[in-house]
Amino acid sequence: MTAVVFQPAAAAAATAANLPERLAAIVGGANVLTAGPDTARYEADWRGVFPGHCFAVVRPRATDEVSRVVAACAAAGVAVVPQGGNTGLVGGSTPDDSRTEVVLSLERMRAVRRIDALDNAMTLEAGCTVLAAQEAAAEAGRLFPLSLASEGSATIGGVLSTNAGGEQVLRYGNARDLALGLEVVLADGRVLDLLGALRKDNTGYDLKQLFIGAEGTLGIVTAATVKLFQRPRHVVTAWAAVRDPHAAVQLLAQLTEAVGERVTAFELMGEGALGLVLRHAAPGMRPPLGGTHAWSVLFDVSEVCAHLDPTPALEETLAEAMARGLVLDAALATSQRQAQDFWSLRDYLPEAQRREGPSIKHDISVAVSRIPAFVAEADAALQALMPGVRIVCFGHVGDGNLHYNQSMPAGMGKAEFLAREGEVHAIVHDTAARLQGSISAEHGIGRLKQDAFVRYKHPVALEAMARIKRALDPAGTFNPGRLLPRALLERSAR
Ligand code: ZN
Repeated sequence: MTAVVFQPAAAAAATAANLPERLAAIVGGANVLTAGPDTARYEADWRGVFPGHCFAVVRPRATDEVSRVVAACAAAGVAVVPQGGNTGLVGGSTPDDSRTEVVLSLERMRAVRRIDALDNAMTLEAGCTVLAAQEAAAEAGRLFPLSLASEGSATIGGVLSTNAGGEQVLRYGNARDLALGLEVVLADGRVLDLLGALRKDNTGYDLKQLFIGAEGTLGIVTAATVKLFQRPRHVVTAWAAVRDPHAAVQLLAQLTEAVGERVTAFELMGEGALGLVLRHAAPGMRPPLGGTHAWSVLFDVSEVCAHLDPTPALEETLAEAMARGLVLDAALATSQRQAQDFWSLRDYLPEAQRREGPSIKHDISVAVSRIPAFVAEADAALQALMPGVRIVCFGHVGDGNLHYNQSMPAGMGKAEFLAREGEVHAIVHDTAARLQGSISAEHGIGRLKQDAFVRYKHPVALEAMARIKRALDPAGTFNPGRLLPRALLERSAR
């Protein structure tokens, strides 16, 4: 008798070969894309840094379909790359170029399932954009405060999976702080229902937090219950030239003393950053203040009570800060339109950098009080490494988060500049680490920052993460090679 030899590789290949058919049976043929022109927009990140090629794109319409798609992919041993609005900056949501990964797009799951103004809570499907979430909350007379430049495309599932930050973290927290509940599809296809509007629940591990910031490596977020807030009746926007980063931190402290948590955003821009905006800006974009200043801050003070206008307190604080020499000049927006004009300068920064040409980018955080030390130490070390390097520094002072980027010195070639990228990263990340900071404050790790992640994260933390990954995704099919490097998982499995 001839023994039947089971060949796992051949069996897997056979199953993968008919996977598109089985996926089509779940989501309909029109929602399984395999032809190049159809899949292209799912295969590269918007910056074009991580071009890839997938096996197929599948677009389920409901949680039950996600569950069955995941089970089918697991049975075929095929990796799944979950994708929301594809606005990430670290290559976490696009396929590699192996043509073996299935992109699972949540873009058809955009229903608002429930809004309860009394609970200040809203349950949405993962593919709902952040902008649509803001609009749905506004219709119910509430505020969904997550706000970031990509909000028209970024999705609820994406911002939770990456724990996105943005411009109002200072007052409302980042995506993690806004989540009350989650619905997640696990690696074996089962649905973990953690939805609900509870503010208090001390029944064991807070499992939802595991999936927030996990970049799709532990489960696929299919829906979420998020916090809502009262809508502000007054928003006062101000622009101020400050003496230096230390003065910016002092001004924030003084403002907070005067108006408490009404400070909803507090952004810092160095002259290198503002200069780029003005150079590349659309006609009509003008700085609110005359002259050039080394450092500027832009901030919002919001008040929910119609009878309490924070403007007098704000003016008084600015006058005091000017008397102390912290603030050199300041302007309050006198209309909503003018406030938008102030913010458009800030929001144009990433685009201005793109137009300027190659840049080396960082997304670091330190304790707020250490921002001045970080800027001083990193600036000095970079000028020593590369004299004339142009520092493009801006960020969210209230969160201790700086986008501390570099553009080429005048006269240097692109190749010569980019060849020094590793040295520049090392200086910036070493400086952040020395000040007990983080090498990724709000952009995540993805594929872009794995080297720094492994270098700076505590080894025991890395080991704990690898164990959690193996417990929840033992076959390693969810977003493999993102966040946790393959080598780390292999090493910790031995
Ligand atoms: Zn940011």
